[in-house]
Amino acid sequence: MSKKGFITTNLHSDRKDNPEHGVLHKPIHPSVAYSYEDARHLAEVFQGKRAGYNYGRQLNPTVTALQNKISAMENGIASVAFATGMAAIASSFLSLLKAGDHIVSSTFLFGNTNSLFNTLERLGIEVTFVDATEARFVENAVQKNTRLVFVETIANPVTQVADLKGIGQLCQINNLIYCVDNTMTSPHLFSPKEVGASLIVNSLTKNIGGHGNALGGMITDTGLYDWSSFDNIFDTYRKEKPELWGITQIKKKGLRDMGASMSPEAAHHLSVGSETLPLRLDRACANAMILAEFCENHPGIAHVYYPGLASHPQHKRAQQLFKNFGAIFSVDLVDEIDCFEFLNRMETVVSSSNLGDNRTLAIPVAHTIYYEMGAERRASMGIADSMVRFSVGIEDIEDLLEDFSKALV
Ligand SMILES: *Cc1c(COP(=O)(O)O)cnc(C)c1O
Repeated sequence: MSKKGFITTNLHSDRKDNPEHGVLHKPIHPSVAYSYEDARHLAEVFQGKRAGYNYGRQLNPTVTALQNKISAMENGIASVAFATGMAAIASSFLSLLKAGDHIVSSTFLFGNTNSLFNTLERLGIEVTFVDATEARFVENAVQKNTRLVFVETIANPVTQVADLKGIGQLCQINNLIYCVDNTMTSPHLFSPKEVGASLIVNSLTKNIGGHGNALGGMITDTGLYDWSSFDNIFDTYRKEKPELWGITQIKKKGLRDMGASMSPEAAHHLSVGSETLPLRLDRACANAMILAEFCENHPGIAHVYYPGLASHPQHKRAQQLFKNFGAIFSVDLVDEIDCFEFLNRMETVVSSSNLGDNRTLAIPVAHTIYYEMGAERRASMGIADSMVRFSVGIEDIEDLLEDFSKALV
């Protein structure tokens, strides 16, 4: 059959995958355990010689269906689902890396990922944070023991766009695992595989689920990294095709042993949400562009951070790499406007910590999600006390504009 488009493929994937009673949605399978008429089959499932399910922590049919959808969206060879995006990152890194290894990470990071990397340092995994908007800064940080480079596509909250292509080439030359967190862009706006990513992270909680009603994370292997050259793979997982060694180790050590599994109910919510990802995100991006332009021309705003604006330092790069500029933008308010008062004056825009919701959400970042890291690290990330981050939703633009006008007094 011919290869279908992004939305068509996603909408029809459950129906094409051996549907019970011809259902259009993969059912929610709550069963934790699975039975086999022939006990030998149970053994074969355990030994990986027969396809099947044995225990809900490791595999569940509803979750598998979602894994397949994300693999198709990212053009990957396999995906593993986790309870949250953080679980996906933590479990993958803990299963692939060991003490004495070194990773290079963008300094412009989601706050909890930054915090996780500090924990990795306590476990003997060295982390160097660099400005990833230029590949040469990553290159300068590469050491003999470097195993992996980690970047986000559009960083939160200052919206820096990493040199995704340049870093991809660098990782290929140096045979490094290239892990790209695609949460901000989602597979609708950007395909990390195109720039050489080995592993892709998506927090499904955000744009892919899109409704703020379920948590989930996914790690996808693109098949581009040669795992046979990676000596952290346990002997037991060196049996199948080398392209599957990495994801197998993540599945066994990261998911099975650490146990942050996605629930089948969450998988169902996220799967239904994913059906409208391109529709929602296109509209949210269009709204974000209008609001960012409005703010850029408003005297109450000192600075706007949005890759869609010509004034953004990586505007051209974002234009080349992404289908659109995303639904996140941030502003620095002028000194005369208090960020809390500003937010309290808004009616439609909700003060909330999530992002990638259908509703427009806003948060004073220095006082909340980036509070714990302290003033010094915030300054290094370009986060001012007056900064407000918006995650733009799909409301009617007139209502959003009215909110901004009224609040910026
Ligand atoms: C939210 C987020 C995560 C973590 O996802 P959760 O599902 O909340 O655990 C990771 N990376 C980025 C860029 C995010 O925005």
